[in-house]
Amino acid sequence: MTKSSVLGYPRIGADREWKKALEAFWSGKLEEADFVLQLQEIRLSHLRKQKEKGIDLIAVNDFSYYDHILDTATMFGMIPKRFTYNGGVVPLSLYYGIARGTKDATASEMTKWFNTNYHYIVPELDGAAPTLTENKPLQAYREAKEKLGIEGKPVIVGPLTFLKLSKGYNKAETDAWLDRLVPLYVQILQELAAEGVQWVQIDEPILVTKASQEDINRLNRIFAAFSAAVPNLNIMLQTYFESVDHYEDIVALPVKGIGLDFVHGLSANLASIQKLGFPADKVLGAGVIDGRGIWKASLNEKLALINQLSQVVGSDRLIIQSSSSLLHVPVTVKNEQKLPEELKNALAFADEKLDELVLLTKAVSQGAGSYAAELEENERSVQALKQSGERNRNDIQQAVAAISAKQPVRSLPFEKRHAVQEQKWQLPIFPTTTIGSFPQSAEVRKARQQWRKGELDNEQYAQFIRDQIDIWIKLQEEIGLDVLVHGEFERTDMVEFFGEKLAGFAFTQFGWVQSYGSRCVKPPIIYGDVAFEEAMTVEETKYAQTKTARPVKGMLTGPITIMNWSFVRDDISREQIAYQLAYALRQEVEALEQAGIGMIQVDEPAVREGLPLKEEDQANYLAWAVKAFRMTTCTVQDTTQIHTHMCYCEFHDMIGSIEDMDADVISIETSRSHGELIHSFELNTYKLGIGLGVYDIHSPRIPHVDEMTSMIDRALRVLDPKLFWINPDCGLKTRGYEETVASLKNMVEATELARAKH
Ligand code: GLN
Ligand code: ZN
Repeated sequence: MTKSSVLGYPRIGADREWKKALEAFWSGKLEEADFVLQLQEIRLSHLRKQKEKGIDLIAVNDFSYYDHILDTATMFGMIPKRFTYNGGVVPLSLYYGIARGTKDATASEMTKWFNTNYHYIVPELDGAAPTLTENKPLQAYREAKEKLGIEGKPVIVGPLTFLKLSKGYNKAETDAWLDRLVPLYVQILQELAAEGVQWVQIDEPILVTKASQEDINRLNRIFAAFSAAVPNLNIMLQTYFESVDHYEDIVALPVKGIGLDFVHGLSANLASIQKLGFPADKVLGAGVIDGRGIWKASLNEKLALINQLSQVVGSDRLIIQSSSSLLHVPVTVKNEQKLPEELKNALAFADEKLDELVLLTKAVSQGAGSYAAELEENERSVQALKQSGERNRNDIQQAVAAISAKQPVRSLPFEKRHAVQEQKWQLPIFPTTTIGSFPQSAEVRKARQQWRKGELDNEQYAQFIRDQIDIWIKLQEEIGLDVLVHGEFERTDMVEFFGEKLAGFAFTQFGWVQSYGSRCVKPPIIYGDVAFEEAMTVEETKYAQTKTARPVKGMLTGPITIMNWSFVRDDISREQIAYQLAYALRQEVEALEQAGIGMIQVDEPAVREGLPLKEEDQANYLAWAVKAFRMTTCTVQDTTQIHTHMCYCEFHDMIGSIEDMDADVISIETSRSHGELIHSFELNTYKLGIGLGVYDIHSPRIPHVDEMTSMIDRALRVLDPKLFWINPDCGLKTRGYEETVASLKNMVEATELARAKH
């Protein structure tokens, strides 16, 4: 019998009750005992839902109090040295201390979970002596069985992935670390087997990245140890987010099931199965329902795919499952009340994906004929959106095809443009500027709330924004900055603001997904052809320029960042979506220029986030990402100065691509990787204008003049002084008024000292 399976379910709850409980506990409004009970209720309700929908294999131990990698580390008693820990089960205070920091010890680093927007806590191995403090998968299994009669499938992050994602150890000691960890896994598995557990899911997503022969040898050792210890426990070795490289080695491992992603690694995984076959003694976990996208699947297409798979594997050895955990999608479409009907009907969040999995499984077991009506209904809603006016704007498609057929180049190369721009702008050496936003004070947020509720009318709100601009233009002049900004007071965030004004976007009411800890994001949905409808930033920028003789820099979010921070349609390529965005934003750039704005910054902090997992796909992505940026910016006059800004990531290995973007000036965050960044500039000799951030904006601390002086001196050892700008690391919207003014004053003082030396 074909079975259905889910690899993990969102923790946050349809109304973010999980987030609310965490935050109430942290703020002391909820006692620990009540908190633990609340989380149990949430956890059980998620399991109950999956059971009621009819999922056969329901993941347990996918739930977390914060993050599942932190859960694994604390289960193994691996506590960073700077925290006090006396062994035994890790208390919640310590658990949250590692995640969020305490007054005595800084939090552990967090980083992106593969190419998703989920961030996990990076385990620190130095000094840790792993032991099993508790068997969390077993507890989760027992709870589901006792409370709900569910025969759960415990999920656990595999040892290779866990180790590869950890830091604080010498890579030469990888095997020694595995020797410490594997016995703990064995103990967990033995206890699960003794309990009568049937399936265990061991996640090894690291196998979709480049694995060396050494890693494959390690994998063999790990799973040989498991199968020797628990020969009768069904282990599903689970991969996701891409295809696996060493297919033949992986399917030869002594496990009962292999889980592969047939959405994000579809063509390569399918080709491997068809060319190389699949072992007769194993079950295939066929990840056919997208665990990361928000769209309804075309179930007929999925049935055709399953049919192809069953020709090799046999449908009795197939498990129909989500391609990854559903952690990465919102909970349910059901409560959305404001979406266009055609769009709403074509969406599938976690709960709707459960229905898809169950329906597919039944259709495979009993024949599609018995479900003709459901399948037809599914096809109708998928087709309705496909054929909608929003997805078929000929005007946009033709214009984008025409401009993307041409190489986007500025009319003069940088050196010549630079000369013309120097002539026009007459800036001092080491021009100073900021990244765009100024403090979004309580007052600013309140005014926006009032306006949204109708308590302020459009004109009152616009006047409020103008008043803010007045204050900050004056302040910037007093501080002595050379290139000013209007301050972005009218914007909530970098993507929503633009999405609300462009065609092709929709916004959900409840479409939250966990980003890290209790922090959730609600990405916009790009569901149609993107189109420029009206100027988005001209009014405020132009107004700011009337208030000063110094240049005011216009401020836009770039096409790649807008795309990477949204859920996007999957019927056209990301490359095409990026070009549509580029075309729309180009019209904004041109509108700004026409309104007399001669410096325009197009922010691209998220370029790196979209980098494909497979090395062989990365160059192509970077090429079209760069092209999209250039399409956005290439039509301006020679005198118009294009700026860009990047942050959040390490950029030292993509300086070539950054240079190809051909922005006249880039401002770039450096506090997180200053040494490496400077070093790679030594190797690369960047030839365009550049401002390395001279202070970290993530802390309220006011940086001293001499700290910034040493940053500047260091940068000038490798960068051309004639091309060097001075600016903070990032936008200042999260900072307070006083610290912002004081910090910028110090920055200008450091600049003056540098000017005196040159
Ligand atoms: N212009 C934006 C700001 O200053 C840039 C933000 C960012 O890079 N994340 O807020
Ligand atoms: Zn930034």
